[in-house]
Amino acid sequence: MEKSIFTKIMDKEIPARFEYEDEHVIVIHDIAPKAPIHLLIIPRKPIPTLMDVQEEDLPLIGHIHRVAQKLAEKLNVKGFRLINNCGKEGGQEVFHIHYHFLAGFQE
Ligand code: 5GP
Repeated sequence: MEKSIFTKIMDKEIPARFEYEDEHVIVIHDIAPKAPIHLLIIPRKPIPTLMDVQEEDLPLIGHIHRVAQKLAEKLNVKGFRLINNCGKEGGQEVFHIHYHFLAGFQE
């Protein structure tokens, strides 16, 4: 399977601005931000879409939500949107599952 752009970023073959990383996920700044804070939470496991998530992946999906909490605390934001685009018809462009963390909207 060809490496996704996000795997290439994890492998440091392509540069990106990292906000956080651990053994399960990386968090980078989106190259084309749609909000004052626009991060991508990306599992190291290259699951193509949310429809490919298996029972065994559920702890990883839970972990992504914990990472979103940590980001909110670290960046001191009171609210955020956590978005997954699933499939071409859902607007997904990169077929390596990821969650958009959007914050910094005006109150
Ligand atoms: P999707 O439409 O698949 O949910 O979102 C893919 C996101 O990845 C888009 O918001 C796009 O701007 C971002 N993106 C695509 N290529 C790169 C890249 O090389 N670096 C970074 N940091 N973001 C990227």
